[in-house]
Amino acid sequence: MLALWGRVSVEPAIVLRVENLRTWFPVKTGLFKPVSYVKAVDGVSFSIHRGEALAIVGESGCGKTTLGRTTLRVLEPISGKIYFHEKEITHSREEELKEFRRKTAMIFQDPYSSLNPAFNVYRILEEPLIINGIRKKEERTELIYKALEEVKLNPVELFASKYPHMLSGGQRQRVAIARALILKPEYVVADEPVSMLDASVRAEILYLLNELKNRHQIAFMYITHDLATAKYLCKRTAIMYAGKIVEVGPTKEIISNPRHPYTKALIEALPDPDPSNRFRRIKVVPGEPPNLLNPPPGCRFSPRCPYAKDICREREPELEEGPPGHYTACFLKDEI
Ligand code: SF4
Repeated sequence: MLALWGRVSVEPAIVLRVENLRTWFPVKTGLFKPVSYVKAVDGVSFSIHRGEALAIVGESGCGKTTLGRTTLRVLEPISGKIYFHEKEITHSREEELKEFRRKTAMIFQDPYSSLNPAFNVYRILEEPLIINGIRKKEERTELIYKALEEVKLNPVELFASKYPHMLSGGQRQRVAIARALILKPEYVVADEPVSMLDASVRAEILYLLNELKNRHQIAFMYITHDLATAKYLCKRTAIMYAGKIVEVGPTKEIISNPRHPYTKALIEALPDPDPSNRFRRIKVVPGEPPNLLNPPPGCRFSPRCPYAKDICREREPELEEGPPGHYTACFLKDEI
C-alpha cells in the first residue's frame, strides 16, 4: 500500500489520505448508446501530513482539479476512500461533514471571479464566520483584522472597506487567501493560485502561502502545471497524467532525477531562467493527452512516449519504489 509512500520515523500526523480514488463523470454519447464515463481521476492514492505541501503537477485536463475537489468532498468519487485524520468521510452525509467543512478550504485560480464584487472585503471575510456560527460582531471583526494582517494587507481598516474592483490582482488573491484561512483550516487545496497573476506578484504570493502553511502547520495540496513553483512550495510532488499519478517523490529529486518519460518531457518544457540560455530550444511534449472517455490500453502515455514498447500497450504499469520514497509507474524506469 502506497499510503505512506515509504516515509519512516517520527512524522507529523496524516491529515488527509485517499486510497484508490476514482472520480468518473457519466456522459451520454448517443440516444441508444449506454452511458460512458470520463475517467477524470482513476485510481489515485496518497497522503498529506500536517504542515506538508504536496504538489499535484500535470497538463490541463489531467484530472488534478477534479482530484482536489474530490478530496474536499465537493465532487463525489465513484469508488475509493477518503480519510480525514484517519476517519473515513467518503460517503458521510452533509450534516456529518460540518466539522470537515470548517477545517478545510480551497483557494481558487482566478482572484477576479472568486470574490463577490458586491461585497467589500470586510463582508467577504465575514461570510464564512457567520456561516460557521460566530455570532458576536466584535469577535468577527477581530478575526477579520487578524486575517488581513496575516496576508499583509495593511492598514487593515482601509483594506476592509475596499471592494474587489479597487484592488490589484495580487491584493485580491491575498483577500481570497485570508478568506480561505480565516477559520484556521487544517487542509487546504490551492488550485493554480498564482497562474493568473503577474510574474512580479507570483513570488510574493508563493512566499506568503509558504509562510502561512508553516506557521499554521496546514496540510496543503498545491495544484499546478508549473514544476518551477512546485519546487519552491512543496517538498513532495506527484506528477499526474490522464487521471493517474505516474511519478511521486521528493520534489528536488523528481526535478533532478525524473524517472518517468512524461516528467522528463515536462522538465524539458520548462523555460530556462538563465538569460544566457534564453534561446535554448524548449522541447514541447509531443501529441495530445488522451480522451479520458476512452483512454488507450496499457500505459496511458504510450501514444506520446518515445520509449514505448509492446508491453507498454498491453499492460498498465503500477507505481513502484526506486530510490526510497520515489515511486514511478513505467516499465522502463530503470533503463531510461
Ligand atoms: Fe513510456 Fe512504456 Fe514507460 Fe509508459 S511504460 S512511460 S509507454 S516507457
